[in-house]
Amino acid sequence: MSKPEPQPPSTSNFIRQIVDEDLRTGKYAGRKWGGRPGTAAEHAQGASDPARIRTRFPPEPNGYLHIGHAKSICLNFGLAREYGGLCHLRFDDTNPTKEEQEYVDSILDAVKWLGFDWGEHLYYASDYFERLYAFAEHLVERGLAYVDSQSADEMRARRGTLTEAGKASPHRDRPVAENLDLLRRMRAGEFPDGAHVLRAKIDMASPNINLRDPAMYRIRHADHHRTGGAWCIYPTYDWAHGTSDALENITHSICTLEFEDHRPLYNWFNERLAEGGLLNAPLPQQIEFARLNLTYVVLSKRKLIQLVDELHVDGWDDPRMPTLVGARRRGYTPEGFRLFAERIGVAKADSWIDYSVLEDCMREDLNERAERRMAVLDPLKLVIENYPEDREELCEVPNHPQQPELGRRPVPFARELWIEREDFVEEPPKGYFRLSPGAEVRLRYAYVVKCVGVEKDREGNVVAIRCRYDPDTKSGTPGADRKKVKGNIHWVSARHAHRAEVRLYDRLFTVEHPGAGDRDFRVDLNPESKRVIAAYLEPATAQAVPEERFQFERHGYFVADLRDSHPGAPVFNRAVTLRDTWAKGGAKR
Ligand code: ATP
Ligand code: MG
Repeated sequence: MSKPEPQPPSTSNFIRQIVDEDLRTGKYAGRKWGGRPGTAAEHAQGASDPARIRTRFPPEPNGYLHIGHAKSICLNFGLAREYGGLCHLRFDDTNPTKEEQEYVDSILDAVKWLGFDWGEHLYYASDYFERLYAFAEHLVERGLAYVDSQSADEMRARRGTLTEAGKASPHRDRPVAENLDLLRRMRAGEFPDGAHVLRAKIDMASPNINLRDPAMYRIRHADHHRTGGAWCIYPTYDWAHGTSDALENITHSICTLEFEDHRPLYNWFNERLAEGGLLNAPLPQQIEFARLNLTYVVLSKRKLIQLVDELHVDGWDDPRMPTLVGARRRGYTPEGFRLFAERIGVAKADSWIDYSVLEDCMREDLNERAERRMAVLDPLKLVIENYPEDREELCEVPNHPQQPELGRRPVPFARELWIEREDFVEEPPKGYFRLSPGAEVRLRYAYVVKCVGVEKDREGNVVAIRCRYDPDTKSGTPGADRKKVKGNIHWVSARHAHRAEVRLYDRLFTVEHPGAGDRDFRVDLNPESKRVIAAYLEPATAQAVPEERFQFERHGYFVADLRDSHPGAPVFNRAVTLRDTWAKGGAKR
C-alpha cells in the first residue's frame, strides 16, 4: 500500500530566509564545540562543527504533545532535514514537580510517529545541571549575579510595572564572597524552599521586565525524575534554555512569539558566558514564530486536563482530543500533519487556522493511501426476489479507483443485502436518483436492481425493500452498461457481513472559539462528538489490523482502533468525513 507521499510545495518563509542568509555568509562555519560532550561521530570530525544548521525541539515532559507541538516539530525537524542539518530532541526538564517519565516516553513516541529521527541527538537539560551551576558561580564571581533573600512577594512588589521602573533589592550589592557562599549553601541544601533566589544582576530600570534581575535558581527540595535527589536548586527556563542551546551548538533556536521579550535575556546570558570564555561564538540565535491557533480546538494544558479529569472524553488518547496520541487513534496520519505544517506555513503574527484546513490535509493524504471498502452504517434490508436463495457469487472490486496497482478483491454477493437506509425513500423528491418504488439503481460493482415492493412493520416503518435484478448488467461484463441508471449505491451481503462497532467521531466543540469571552468552554462541548453504532461491513474488513485505514465508500475515512481492536474483530473510528460538513461560522450543515 505504500506510495511515495505527496511532496508539499516548497514555499518560502521568513525562517528559511534567515537560514539561507546564514548559510550564504558562513555564519556558523568552523564553529567550535559548545561544550556538550559530542558523539563519537562528531569527535571524529575534529574540533569544529561543520557549517550546518542545528535546530532543536525542546518539550517540557509535563504533558502529552498536541497539534500545536506538531507544528513546532515539523518546523524544527523539517528545516534540519531540508538543509542537511540536525535537529536535537531536548527535554526541558527543569521543573521536577510537574515532570514524569511517562510523558518523556509518550513524547519520544509522538516525534517518531510524526516521521522524525533525532538519531544520537537526544538530550536533557538536566544533563547540564552541573555545567549550568558552574556557569552560575562564574557569573557570581564576575559580579553578574547575586543571591536575593527577599520573599517572593517582596520581589514581586519591587519588580515595577510596564510604566514604572523596578526597585533594587536590599541584597543587590552583596559582596561576591558572600553571594558565592550563599549559593554554595543553597546547593548543599542548607535552606528551605523560597529562602533565597539566585538572580542575574542586569537592570532594575529596564523597560523590559525580563531584564529586571531575573531569577536563575530557586530552591526546591524535590526529587527529579532523572537526577533524583542530587539537586535541591533548579534552574529557571530562561537560565537553562539559551545556555543549553549554546552547549549543544544550536544555530537557530525557534520558539513561539511569547518569548520575543525574553530574547534580550537569552542573549545576555550567552554573551556574558562567551565573554568569560565558557561558551563559544557564534552563539545561537532565537527566532520567534506564531504559535498554532486552531478553531474548534482547545490546546491549553489546563483545559485538556479538565476534559480528561471530568470525563468529557475517554482519556488523553481519546480520538477527539487534540493530543497526538488522540489524533493517531482518530486515524490522522503523520503525512497529513506534515502536509498541514507546510500548508499553514510560518508567520510572525498570530492568526487562526480553520480546523477544516487540518481535515482537508488528512483527507488528501488518506485519499491517496486508504483502500476502499463498502460499509453500511444505517442498515436497511434489500431482498432480490429473482435471485436464488442458495446462490452466491463474487464481485471483483478495485481497492482504489485511481491506483490499479493496489489490486482488486472479491466481495460476496447474495440474495439478501444491507443497504443504507437513506438510499431509499418512498416518495422521492425531484432529483433523487437512488431507490424508490419502481426506480432502478446500480448496486456498485454488481447488478442493476429495480424496486418492486416494500415491507413495513405494524407502525408503518419500512423494514425491507424488495427488488428484482437484471442478470445481464453485472459490472465488468460485456454490455453491463447497456442499461443506463443514475443512482449507484453501496451494499453488503447480509449473510457475509461483518458486524463491527464503529465510532462516528466529530468535532469536540460546536463553536470556532470554545469558551470565548467569559463563557465556560465546557458549555461549547459538542454533545454529538461521539456516536457508537453497530455497522455491517464487507467481510474483508474483519482482517483489518490496528491502525489500518480505509475509505468506507461514500462515508469517509476510518481506522481500525489501536486499542480496542482484537484479531478478527476490529473496532473502527471515523477519522474524517469525505466532505466538510461544517459551515464556517459554527453551524453544522
Ligand atoms: P507549557 O505551558 O507547559 O510551557 P507548552 O505547550 O509551551 O506548555 P512545551 O513543552 O514548553 O509546552 O512546548 C514545547 C515546544 O512546542 C515549545 O518550543 C513551544 O514553543 C512549542 N509549542 C507549544 N505550543 C505550540 C503551538 N500551539 N504552536 C506551535 N508551537 C507550540
Ligand atoms: Mg512552554
